[in-house]
Amino acid sequence: MRLSRYFLPVLKETPAEAQIASHRLMLRAGMIKQASAGIYSWLPLGFKVLRKLENIVHEEQVRAGHIPMLMPTLQSADLWRESGRYDAYGPEMLRIRDRHERDMLYGPTNEELITDIFRAHVGSYRDLPLTLYHIQWKFRDEVRPRFGVMRGREFLMKDGYNFDLTKEDALHSYNRHLVSYLRTYERMGLQAIPMRADSGPIGGDDTHEFLVLAETGESEVFYDSAITDLRFGERVIDYADPAQCRAVLEEFTSRYARTDETHDEALFNAIPEERRRVARGIEVGQIFYFGTKYSEPMGATVQGPDGKPVPVHMGSHGIGVSRLVGAIIEASHDERGIIWPEGVTPFHAGIVNLKQGDDEADAACEALYASMTALGLEPLYDDRDERAGGKFATMDLIGLPWRITVGPRGLKNGVVELTSRRTGESEELPPEQAIERLALAYAGHGLKPAL
Ligand code: ATP
Ligand code: MG
Repeated sequence: MRLSRYFLPVLKETPAEAQIASHRLMLRAGMIKQASAGIYSWLPLGFKVLRKLENIVHEEQVRAGHIPMLMPTLQSADLWRESGRYDAYGPEMLRIRDRHERDMLYGPTNEELITDIFRAHVGSYRDLPLTLYHIQWKFRDEVRPRFGVMRGREFLMKDGYNFDLTKEDALHSYNRHLVSYLRTYERMGLQAIPMRADSGPIGGDDTHEFLVLAETGESEVFYDSAITDLRFGERVIDYADPAQCRAVLEEFTSRYARTDETHDEALFNAIPEERRRVARGIEVGQIFYFGTKYSEPMGATVQGPDGKPVPVHMGSHGIGVSRLVGAIIEASHDERGIIWPEGVTPFHAGIVNLKQGDDEADAACEALYASMTALGLEPLYDDRDERAGGKFATMDLIGLPWRITVGPRGLKNGVVELTSRRTGESEELPPEQAIERLALAYAGHGLKPAL
């Protein structure tokens, strides 16, 4: 993409309404624009990051054996009356009436809708296990929408639902989700710690939230610092094997880590003092096992091996896709702007032409652009006729992990400059070598360009 033809409405001033870094930076970098309280338009740069996160979520869900689909945002109130949640959900639910006076709602979550699909089409235990998921916009009329996309009213969520014959199978589904979530967040360059949590209006017996540690997080968390040493890393897991998935759950939940809702002072005090941590975190996902809470009232049964109908065991599992954009920025920025992890960056590298209009510099930038594109890398080429300082400031603000700077002086010696956004270190290299470095940096991240 050439910056002169892109739509990147960068703001010079810091918006007064933004209280936290990610909100400020998303507005300044031209990623989002507020449409109304807690509702945002995703401008091209923000949309690109959102799509990258969605792709990672899809890839990891499919890898775990879960099946993608799409359910609508608007739902009929009747289904929610069946589960008893229409009245129970409270003012967070946006209730709408259509022209025929039918009660509708903008879905805050989808347990009822998926249970209705299941009971219409699945009849036998032989069809199980089954896990379906989608990535769809949700609406919750939050009392205090704030912090930009972190606590929006309309937000994008991946929500998945498992259907199993027995509690044991459903717990395997739960563990499988935990593993796939660990992989998902690590690919996004994040450490998200599973913490025992409270189930809230979803209800259920077993639940973990995934929290990214950050001072601006809304949740108070208590944990044993030893848990932050754990990494999922490159290990290969057979998702069909219950023992392997359980072992990962046990490893990642063996240390004390809880939100304030389930915090237990006595257990916490049993941790050696130097490892006790009280901090704040951003909730980026949650997994639930809730047994037959929805299947029983809604009649989601299958014929068991003995021919008798049995209600299925279910769980639901959410990832806050749009919140993650903010969470990643909270975890990775400095005073100059965003620092995208390689796995989610909107463009792989910036090309800065120090002397636009100089034949040699222009040709060198074009050549870099072409060879990066041929490798599947997506550059953002700042081809505007602007001062170098302004170009650098824009690149630093939008946070691409790598920048290649091209100017007549370097070209005389056959070199360009490759700069890491994270470390600030620069190196002079022949253009081909700079590109090799980039290819190497992105080797583990798949080179598929997003929209
Ligand atoms: P919270 O406690 O932050 O209100 P929740 O526990 O009600 O969230 P879940 O029902 O677990 O949310 O939804 C799954 C994920 O969706 C959450 O982990 C979070 O990342 C995201 N999410 C929930 N509410 C919002 C919101 N208002 N804005 C953005 N993302 C949200
Ligand atoms: Mg939650």
